[in-house]
Amino acid sequence: MKVSTASLWIAASVFFSLGCTPRAEPLAETAPPAPAPVRTVLDATAQQALTPEQVLTELKAGNQRFVDGNLTHRDYMAQAEATAAGGQFPKATILGCVDSRVPPEIIFDQGIGDVFVGRVAGNVEDVNLVGSMEFATKVAGSKVILILGHTACGAIKGAADGVELGNLTELLNDFDEPIARASEATGVEPSSSNQEFLDLAIKENVRQTIADILEQSAVISEMVANGELLVVGGVYDLATGRVDWLDG
Ligand SMILES: [Zn+2]
Repeated sequence: MKVSTASLWIAASVFFSLGCTPRAEPLAETAPPAPAPVRTVLDATAQQALTPEQVLTELKAGNQRFVDGNLTHRDYMAQAEATAAGGQFPKATILGCVDSRVPPEIIFDQGIGDVFVGRVAGNVEDVNLVGSMEFATKVAGSKVILILGHTACGAIKGAADGVELGNLTELLNDFDEPIARASEATGVEPSSSNQEFLDLAIKENVRQTIADILEQSAVISEMVANGELLVVGGVYDLATGRVDWLDG
């Protein structure tokens, strides 16, 4: 039988390529094992054991995990079933903007049953939201209320520029005070095109919302005075994913 040189060459190539190709198993053994998805949820005991300071620390850590691309792997259906069967015991309440780029559960790396969320353009309180927060804290036991503004907020921009549109006009009137303070502090007329003014107005709006909630709600202010609840503010940076936490 005549065997061509070409056939031998091909056979040899196949032999050596098989022999020299690293096997998959050793690589798999050296790779870190994938973490099991989180299936558990907060229960009453775990919620009660948390202090407001610990909850705030966890929200800050969750935002850091988001920034690092290190989000917790969760089994959402397992968490849905657990909370449906056992109830909800969220640790925090977040009031944020409707902006599609600021989804609270994602940017704080939280699962099902972890946080109450209210959203409205410009993260401003009203009686319905304050009532919801009173339920979330006094009845349902959450330990932190976070008012979350964000950079380049369209609601604050619109208010600064005097935008009028249907029911939006009344909503934007809610931002008059923080806009006036930011204008006075920066020495410029309100305008969405002035970055320094806009950034300050967004922060002032968060501070205003916190002050208004404490003024409007005896339930919430009493819990704060008793050390049962923290009401804090932050501004989420659309570009970096980081939350700039505001003091007082
Ligand atoms: Zn916004």
